[in-house]
Amino acid sequence: MQNLLHNLNPEQLAAVTLPSQSALILAGAGSGKTRVLTTRIAWLIQTGQISPAGVLAVTFTNKAAKEMMSRLSAMLPMNIRGMWIGTFHGLCNRLLRAHYRDAALPQSFQILDTQDQLSMIKRMLKALNIDDEKYPPRNLMYFINGAKDDGLRAQDIDAHDEYNRRFVELYDIYDQQCQREGVVDFAELLLRTYELLSRNQPLREHYQQRFRHILVDEFQDTNNLQYNWLKLLAGRDNAVFAVGDDDQSIYAFRGANVGNMAAFEREFSVQNLIKLEQNYRSHGYILDAANTLIANNAKRLGKNLRTDAGHGEPIRVYEATSDLQEANWIIEESKSLIAEGASRSEIAVLYRSNAQSRVIEHALFSAGIPYRVYGGQRFFERAEIKHAIAYLQLIDNPHNDSAFLRVVNFPARGIGARSLEGLQDVARQRRCSLHDAVAHVPGRPGTLLTNFVKLIDDVRAETALLSLPEMVQVMLDNSGLITHYRSEREGADRVENLEQLVAAASQFISEEGFGRGTPALQGPSAEAVAGQAIVNADGVEIVDADAPLTLVMSPLSAFLSHASLEAGDNQAQAGQDAMQLMTVHAAKGLEFDAVFITGLEEGLFPHENSDKAEGGVEEARRLMYVAITRARRRLYLSFSQTRMLHGQTRFNIKSRFFDELPEEALKWLSPKVQHHWFASQPRAAWADTPSKQPALASSTELGWRIGQTVLHQKFGEGVIVNIEGGGGNARASINFGPNGMKLLDLTIAKLEKV
Ligand code: ATP
Ligand code: MG
Repeated sequence: MQNLLHNLNPEQLAAVTLPSQSALILAGAGSGKTRVLTTRIAWLIQTGQISPAGVLAVTFTNKAAKEMMSRLSAMLPMNIRGMWIGTFHGLCNRLLRAHYRDAALPQSFQILDTQDQLSMIKRMLKALNIDDEKYPPRNLMYFINGAKDDGLRAQDIDAHDEYNRRFVELYDIYDQQCQREGVVDFAELLLRTYELLSRNQPLREHYQQRFRHILVDEFQDTNNLQYNWLKLLAGRDNAVFAVGDDDQSIYAFRGANVGNMAAFEREFSVQNLIKLEQNYRSHGYILDAANTLIANNAKRLGKNLRTDAGHGEPIRVYEATSDLQEANWIIEESKSLIAEGASRSEIAVLYRSNAQSRVIEHALFSAGIPYRVYGGQRFFERAEIKHAIAYLQLIDNPHNDSAFLRVVNFPARGIGARSLEGLQDVARQRRCSLHDAVAHVPGRPGTLLTNFVKLIDDVRAETALLSLPEMVQVMLDNSGLITHYRSEREGADRVENLEQLVAAASQFISEEGFGRGTPALQGPSAEAVAGQAIVNADGVEIVDADAPLTLVMSPLSAFLSHASLEAGDNQAQAGQDAMQLMTVHAAKGLEFDAVFITGLEEGLFPHENSDKAEGGVEEARRLMYVAITRARRRLYLSFSQTRMLHGQTRFNIKSRFFDELPEEALKWLSPKVQHHWFASQPRAAWADTPSKQPALASSTELGWRIGQTVLHQKFGEGVIVNIEGGGGNARASINFGPNGMKLLDLTIAKLEKV
């Protein structure tokens, strides 16, 4: 026991060993909040105050949950697998799987990620003949998710005008459609669980009696529904231990409400509010920068950070002329860090927007430095993987219309848009799934569609007794996906990714504790759940969601949830010593020896929307605070005069945040040039169209222009659709038709004008 606690300072020790009452630990970055939370769990268990089954811990990402589990298993001499540690979404998924009937869901309900959700909304609007300019699908999606995050169903919303009334109506139709298809979106996972627990008293009491200790990390970013969910589960008697930092609240755009901290203090009668002010993460200059910057925010609960570490190295600042040069500078600096002995996985490159990663990835790739991107294009979001997953979803739940439409004609089976419209009409009339509507489609389209349904049914039957990886393999072969990508000119990577999916399935079942031979479709067995049954209000026996996933869902269902919920782990590269690339949002809670914060330009960081939204600049500043405080020893800041983003060249001035950092902590690597022609005219100087910009002069001097037809030795004939950069950096995006879109360096690529 002694060794559990001996590495803590007095405030941390006090927090870890608080009595069983609700408490709030309010503390800055790197002060040991997460460490305190994890140690408290271990301490509660080790002192016999609670069994592992009595703890519920909420983390912000799956990665954080995994890390917490591995720290706990190092601290405790027992098997902690099956403990309830996870994200709100992960925990809700688990509850809904166990109580699917009470939650009015099909057993194999599936989770829509944001991309699926948006395409479903588009489909719905189209089917209803609704003008998507007047009711943009994305706005409707934000509306629906926002309402759900506030715990509101369509009938709970009072719309004051015609336009909003329409949104509410569409929200309702959307929910019905999800119900028919047996799918739930991310916000629904939470709302459905909340409704389940508030309606079902025996179930609620069961879990309230069980989770005597609820611990929440990153509490500042909980939204209203999550807060109410916690309140419901805590009941009157349980202790909620919340840790957070108001200065790191960066998810307001997703409904996070930092006001929950004050509400928590009040509503949970918090007696114990502990502040931690000693920072154990960062060297002095880095911490000074963070403290000085965040002091510019008006609305703060107020706290500061100090460190015993020395100043350390100054923060290096670099001004690049282009995003390419910025990327090359990152490579050079990283190389010298690595030469000094830094391990690659301890170097992180952070950016405000995912779109920035492409140039950096390209430079890393050319330099032969392994890297790993979190967020952005995740493994499970790649097109070929989504296709494969759609087949698996149909095997698991044939009524998932999104999955059906994704692959009904992929690979091509001669089923055209017209046939599908006909099918959708039938489904609408009969109020049934596309799968069920197939039988009522006449003629040749009907035959082709029936063949497709049969293909799925056959794979399901053929693989019923096979293990999950075997099932994935059969699906890949029988669906024609592998053959399709093999025949594609550039399909080799995709075939490789598909093969990785089999590996991912193997890894998944061994990590989650499914027996290797367990059939993919086999749900929990009666014996397995015996002893875990509780009785619901109607006297029906239900399974406690206590058990590992193995007891509440089939390997296939579990794997599909994992694919939807897994935040950003690229299976293909796991385990390798690689540099880490991610957005600042994704870096929350993490730490690295060296951190690059890139793209520190007005309009990007802070983002141009920040000036528009109320409190937007303060939120951007908190984001910058999060970014700075990820670094232990070395911090690098960069910005670029020009940047190619979303097909436009932007001309930038450096971020206002530079003026808010202590000058003595910074070391400028490039001369501080003040007189760029554009520096005096910030917004107005931004490019609307690339063709107007002087940076293109050199490429146009070379004789290239947008719209020009060119011939490439390997890719054939193509059309220039965009030109970026200038001089030695000029690059063009060229559409080579069937050979796809390529980004080529105009000074290197051998192109002929046609
Ligand atoms: P963030 O706000 O970024 O989430 P945090 O407050 O959760 O940060 P931790 O990640 O728990 O901070 O801790 C930061 C680092 O300091 C970790 O490497 C942790 O192991 C270390 N640390 C925390 N407390 C101590 C201590 N008492 N002695 C030595 N190291 C400590
Ligand atoms: Mg933390």
